[in-house]
Amino acid sequence: MNDAEISCICCSGKPRYRGSKHGHKLYSCPDCQLLFVHPLPDFSLQIYTDDYFAGAKEGFGYTDYDADKEPMKDTFLVYLKRISHYHRLPGKRLFDVGAATGFFLNLARAEGFDVAGVEPADYAAGIARGKGLDVKTGILEQGLLSPESFDVITMWDVIEHVPDPRATMSQVYEALRPGGILAINTPNSSSLYARVMGLRWHLVVPPEHLFLFGEPSLRELLKDKGFEWLESGAIGKSFTTQYVFSTLFHWLGIKWMTWFLNFLTRSGIGQWRMPINLRDNITVFARKR
Ligand SMILES: [Zn+2]
Repeated sequence: MNDAEISCICCSGKPRYRGSKHGHKLYSCPDCQLLFVHPLPDFSLQIYTDDYFAGAKEGFGYTDYDADKEPMKDTFLVYLKRISHYHRLPGKRLFDVGAATGFFLNLARAEGFDVAGVEPADYAAGIARGKGLDVKTGILEQGLLSPESFDVITMWDVIEHVPDPRATMSQVYEALRPGGILAINTPNSSSLYARVMGLRWHLVVPPEHLFLFGEPSLRELLKDKGFEWLESGAIGKSFTTQYVFSTLFHWLGIKWMTWFLNFLTRSGIGQWRMPINLRDNITVFARKR
């Protein structure tokens, strides 16, 4: 397919070539701000091996997923509060796509939800199962969910990774009961920070991130799939200093700072929280009509 034949998966707009990064070509849609990799690399779940969750080889993934998620607790509790606010169904079955080590599901279970999830990395899914959580190793696209089987489906930092977001959203829609709630968090390509930074935005990381949505692109996609848009916002996250510095060094291409990261780990400073809100992520709550 040559460039003239590419069309936006959200709004059918005419994308423009933006340049390449990490050997992948990137395009953006002038109408809805979708920023995406084209052509798609051979999709490989190999990215999400043990290293993704512990070790973060070459800057991919997380340094120590559970430890890095601890500062996210307050954010996850805010998400659950918003879900409960919109939730009108009698059931409380919640499914988390990309459940990782089950940190969020554990909180949701404590809040009274009947929880389950799926996670591609067997290592992380194993940790979740060790917490007594029903988390399968695999991906949603393997046809895991029965139609109309869940009241709430959550996707935290997932949709930017999937190779066919339209197909994924169709599966999510099918699996929700009518009136069910979808909650998504993802990088926001229409945010001021993302637009100023362009391809230097630290969340433009192909092949890990394949589709970066803006608010207009998410609105188009969700409307097209039959969802009612309820609310969106940029809910602030806190990160560990360890995570912030390793991301920063990777972004700057500084390889020799390993000793500094080791110092952060040894001293315990690495687990300090840094509240960061560049407002470059978007959280959306939507309802299946
Ligand atoms: Zn578009």
